[in-house]
Amino acid sequence: MTENVVEQTGLRETRQIPAPDPDREPLKANVFEAMAKAASQLTPLFPYDHAGSIVPCGAVLIGGPDNTYGHFFHWNAVNEVAITYGSNQAMLATGQIMATQHLHGVNSFLRDEKNPEAYAVMVITQHQSEEGDQTEALIARCTNCKEELVRYDYDATPFPLPGYDTARHGEADAPIRQFPTTLGSIEFVHRRNSEEGRTCSSCGHVNDPFPADIWGWARTVTQTHAVTRAHRALREAAPTQHEQENPS
Ligand SMILES: [Zn+2]
Repeated sequence: MTENVVEQTGLRETRQIPAPDPDREPLKANVFEAMAKAASQLTPLFPYDHAGSIVPCGAVLIGGPDNTYGHFFHWNAVNEVAITYGSNQAMLATGQIMATQHLHGVNSFLRDEKNPEAYAVMVITQHQSEEGDQTEALIARCTNCKEELVRYDYDATPFPLPGYDTARHGEADAPIRQFPTTLGSIEFVHRRNSEEGRTCSSCGHVNDPFPADIWGWARTVTQTHAVTRAHRALREAAPTQHEQENPS
């Protein structure tokens, strides 16, 4: 704010946005381009998932005669904000912004998921804890009586906080880490689709399996795992400086 403006308005800056972290240069992403080609719902649009990051994630939900998304609940210790970038026949209008509760329902957000004209392109921005452990949970309820079928709690503590789990989410030098929500989602599906997970302890109803394929999480987790191994293979194939300087 220039001195001239300060004089005219009496306004003074009380807060300044700090300069960008040199390890995380500002980037831009196009959600339409990203979600035309992404492997799963909730695909992080930027390569930053460190403690304190905001993590905008893309989703594209599409209706079709054979499409079924099911329904579950996500519980996150930190808030999320959903922006709908474009939709038709959806519960969320184009341009609509929604801040979620810690516990929120997740489904296709389409009015009729069998309608091939229905779609929604969204960005769900999750936040990574700045300190302490971060936990999330996925919950399934019985379609018959709404009783809780499965609650799957998982650790989502971001890199590089002390609680970060390298075995789950990747070594410190991994080029791409597993996104905790995606990994937790596929683990939730394994439990939810077990015989025990499908059977309601309250009313005995055997629920249909959760339709995991349409969400794409398993594909993203296995792709991330393969990419991480490929990156390691390339590093290991590169000659060391000693070998370069002393060719045999
Ligand atoms: Zn039930």
